[in-house]
Amino acid sequence: MICIRTKVLYNECMNVHVKPDTLTQLNRLGNITQHEPAGDHPQRETPSLLNCVSHVTTPQGKKAVLKTMLTTACERNCHYCVFRAGRSKTERVSFTPDEMAKAFNTLEQAGQVDGAFLSSGIIKGGVTTQDKILDTAEIIRKKYDYQGYLHLKLMPGAEYDQVHRAMQLADRVSINLEGPTEERLNLLAPKKDFMKELLEVLRFAAHIRQNHQEKTIASITTQFVVGAVGDTDLEVLSVSERLYKELRLSRAYYMGFNPVEQTPFENLPSSNDRRILRLYQSSFLLRDYGWTVEDFLFSQDGNLPMDHDPKILWANTYLRENPVDVVRADREHLLRVPGIGRKTADAILRARKQVHLTDLAQLQKLGVPARAVPYILLDGKKLLVQLSLFPSHEA
Ligand code: SF4
Repeated sequence: MICIRTKVLYNECMNVHVKPDTLTQLNRLGNITQHEPAGDHPQRETPSLLNCVSHVTTPQGKKAVLKTMLTTACERNCHYCVFRAGRSKTERVSFTPDEMAKAFNTLEQAGQVDGAFLSSGIIKGGVTTQDKILDTAEIIRKKYDYQGYLHLKLMPGAEYDQVHRAMQLADRVSINLEGPTEERLNLLAPKKDFMKELLEVLRFAAHIRQNHQEKTIASITTQFVVGAVGDTDLEVLSVSERLYKELRLSRAYYMGFNPVEQTPFENLPSSNDRRILRLYQSSFLLRDYGWTVEDFLFSQDGNLPMDHDPKILWANTYLRENPVDVVRADREHLLRVPGIGRKTADAILRARKQVHLTDLAQLQKLGVPARAVPYILLDGKKLLVQLSLFPSHEA
């Protein structure tokens, strides 16, 4: 079915320079990359009037991004994936780099998108497929002179030079590790090689980022499929920590597993949304707050308790008896307090250089919320009696 709104839009608003089939097909395919985050807040990526466009948060702000694939055909057979080889319910559609770039340009000129997320199924190997993604990006950048947001997928087994070129062309590149360990990946995607095809490509990207001479170079992200093959939070967070510390990854994403009909995993249960939330909370603690995996209080089975935010759980265990004195603590200790984030910790440190903090109202002005009170001291004194000063006190 041709989307009438789309056809009218193109025909009325501009000279149509792209064969209608490309845009019509893109729109009909819809949000085919909904399992792939194009921006910083995957749960908040919302579809636009055009099915193939999503509103996402990027490092350059909120944008309407064309999220699509060069082909929905794939020679791999990842057990969780809607595009896996042999799945008859998947419509297989392919675009040439020219067609895709032209379609993007048409949408961009019409003001419908300001960014693209380009992925692809794998046909004739990862290197050949990567070339097609690069060709598309080259055309978008050079022929159409587009300078805005591009997120390019790196294909399994991509070569060093391909990764380098992708990072010159894009604002962000990503390759999904899928599983936290080689063993888990074998269960999820038996035709992918964890070390040689995935981790190696991430290492290439990290090396390029560390040694680049260019003014700007793409940031790097990855994604894990969580909850299908017995993966534990300990495994997922351990590899996330290494990726942040050793490869300077910008972001690890966690896609909760959802069963897809006509795949080997079609009868497995979906993963718990709360588990995904706890993983993201923990991941930010690893990336931004100086935590290590040893700091988390895992259950016997290697998973985080789902009923508590990990920072609150830690504070309940360690800070109730030993509160942090906001007048003397260093930044690392301030950041351990629930409710004190980086901005508030920095505001406290700045304020301490100018004034002696003596009362709760001062803390309140600096952004310290009521939920921090059970875990802090003010110049050696507990503050629980003064909780009424906080209008939004949580019991
Ligand atoms: S390689 Fe990518 S597109 Fe192909 S089956 Fe695996 S996850 Fe799906």
